[in-house]
Amino acid sequence: MPRRLLALLGCGLLLLASCAMPAPPRQVPLGLDPPVQSPPGDLSVTERVRWWEEQLPRLAPSDRVEARLLMGELHLEAGQPDSARLAFYEAKGGNLSATELGRAERGIGLSYFLQGKPTAGVTHLERALPNLEGPAVDETEYLLAAAKGASFAGPSNAVSERMGVYLSAAHLGAPGEADAATPTNGIPFDVSRRQWGATSMHSNWDRMTTPYRITVHHTAEPFSGTSLSSNIAEVRDVQKQHMNGEGMADIGYHFLLGHDGRIFQGRPLYAQGAHAYGDNNIGNIGICLLGNFVAQPDRGLAYTKVQAPTVKQMEALERLVSELRAEYSIDPSQVWGHQHLKATECPGPHLATWATRYRSK
Ligand SMILES: [Zn+2]
Repeated sequence: MPRRLLALLGCGLLLLASCAMPAPPRQVPLGLDPPVQSPPGDLSVTERVRWWEEQLPRLAPSDRVEARLLMGELHLEAGQPDSARLAFYEAKGGNLSATELGRAERGIGLSYFLQGKPTAGVTHLERALPNLEGPAVDETEYLLAAAKGASFAGPSNAVSERMGVYLSAAHLGAPGEADAATPTNGIPFDVSRRQWGATSMHSNWDRMTTPYRITVHHTAEPFSGTSLSSNIAEVRDVQKQHMNGEGMADIGYHFLLGHDGRIFQGRPLYAQGAHAYGDNNIGNIGICLLGNFVAQPDRGLAYTKVQAPTVKQMEALERLVSELRAEYSIDPSQVWGHQHLKATECPGPHLATWATRYRSK
């Protein structure tokens, strides 16, 4: 799924009282050639390469480029650097778009890493980088950082899983994790991702532009636990719902506030959040208070009772918002409740009023 579409999905829960809206239906643009068919999914890598070889003679020239790029990528997967490089060079012999050229150069670079020749690989990866998109950007920056002994600012866990084979083939160590170690840029929190057992961020995230606004949410889930373990369980549930339920890269919010006022580290601040729907997420730091602050009788008895944020939650919210505003020079007029940006009842009247008052400061 394109990252753009995932960004549109960008909000927590699939209920009106909370943040999210159903995803818009995917539209197939009219007037384009049907895409190149794919080999049956149950074939082995080698069988898939052979399938593409058989297709080649009857493909249109533009599809032949795509087929050769795919073959090269399959050869890389199978650990066959020579065949991979040949396929990528053959692809380069066709009429390539900038994106396809990026893929071909990247593939050639990876084939050299696989042969233990990172110096040769670096030249091609550097050539590829300006034309790459999606996860390939981070993967390529990651390998370049490793080859140059530089540090890597990004979601190194997810990338290192995919790129580990190239590093070890090239006898390189993983690059240092300068930014990844301080993903909240010095903003204090009480419970780190490691402490609450966060799952590593997946690759389908967008880089955060300079934050200039803050949006406040509630989880829309009844919750009253004050123990650390019950708060952790709640935050983990939110992440699971966002990643497994909605295919998001990570928990959608940058910070979550427990009922006891503890600040939980959420999505790293170098990654754009997924909490306010579509473009509302741009430059927008998402803070979510645990609890259900809106009556939702259609969701059952447990949801009929409207909770209020605790005093400690409100104190933590004030503290966090003022830290963030100081760090990023955010104007008080840019502190919002979710419902000020989108038709939703989130974060409920109490917090919406708080945000409205805050903006008039
Ligand atoms: Zn919300």
